[in-house]
Amino acid sequence: MKVIDSIVSQAASIAAIRRDIHAHPELCFEEIRTSDLVAQTLTQWGIPVVRGLGGTGVVGIVKSGTSARGIGLRADMDALPMQEFNTFEHASRHEGKMHACGHDGHTAMLLAAAQHLAKERHFDGTVYLIFQPAEEGGGGAHEMMRDGLFEKFPMEAVFGMHNWPGMPAGSFAVSAGPVMASSNEFKITIRGKGGHAALPHNAIDPVPVACQMVQAFQTIISRNKKPIDAGVISVTMIHAGEATNVIPDSCELQGTVRTFTLEVLDMVEQRMRQIAEHICAAFDVSCEFEFDRNYPPTINSPHEADFARKVMAGIVGETLVLPQEPTMGAEDFAYMLQAKPGAYCFIGNGNGVHREMGHGGGPCTLHNPSYDFNDELIPLGATYWVRLAEAWLAADE
Ligand SMILES: [Zn+2]
Ligand SMILES: [Zn+2]
Repeated sequence: MKVIDSIVSQAASIAAIRRDIHAHPELCFEEIRTSDLVAQTLTQWGIPVVRGLGGTGVVGIVKSGTSARGIGLRADMDALPMQEFNTFEHASRHEGKMHACGHDGHTAMLLAAAQHLAKERHFDGTVYLIFQPAEEGGGGAHEMMRDGLFEKFPMEAVFGMHNWPGMPAGSFAVSAGPVMASSNEFKITIRGKGGHAALPHNAIDPVPVACQMVQAFQTIISRNKKPIDAGVISVTMIHAGEATNVIPDSCELQGTVRTFTLEVLDMVEQRMRQIAEHICAAFDVSCEFEFDRNYPPTINSPHEADFARKVMAGIVGETLVLPQEPTMGAEDFAYMLQAKPGAYCFIGNGNGVHREMGHGGGPCTLHNPSYDFNDELIPLGATYWVRLAEAWLAADE
């Protein structure tokens, strides 16, 4: 494994920053302390920063040589609204908030790369270090773009990286095409007519209507969608009624839809609306149908994914660059990939044995209260960032 020596020599001090961020988690758009820490650390290393994009976003700018070319490297900084079960030294000190997705580690890996890039400057062009807020549902990537990320900082391509528990530490995964799904939410309110449960003929019961709807939605997945296209409809909440002897007035269904393409998403949304409205019409109840699109699918562009793969192979060898199995989770880096070519990769976080005494006893998986980022990844992830930037800016346009 060819990790950069000077990054290894700084790894302990960067791990200390990672643990400090882990101990002080901040939620979507509230990353005040974290972004202060990032900006101050970059400034200390002589890296100019621009702050305020997307509220708490920070962009560090490292220039070298005369080329006008640029590349963007992105890390996310936010934590999750959940209680940490770990009791080790760097466990969360903020009640009900936790770095359970490893964004503390993503921030640390990009900082480690920044330190090396600023010191050595073995490239010709500009590396933009993008520290974004609010990945966990807030669309911080999109907010930074709305504040002019790509206009203010002209870059040819943008790259992202997420730690991946279960994948061996020391491995990477990247593939072309969709790697994370679009994430969407729906809420359907069926309004019937409440009444006595013993006299159903005097009421219009919304509950059997909801049952039909839940069943019918699955035919979109099994009958309307091409079998080789991926898609999920999960009705995750059904709310109606408060008494065993009362037919409720209304019934509410909520859930999520995931797809890898906008074409499949358009079809699913349209069919869900048709089914909901027509089933309601058939049962003489009224229907309110709301469908909110959150994150688009995360789609790696082929050239950039291949470029990233070669850089990884140069560091860990071909056999430790795995195919990236797409997941139906979602990621707001998708917005950046809609605007720029680029690739979003995984870096193996291992199986959890890296966790110190006092971990919560649960699995070391993302969004689990016993999770912790694996500090061993810092030199490897930072080496990837550095080698990627150097190779990108050296490659023919
Ligand atoms: Zn997450
Ligand atoms: Zn995450």
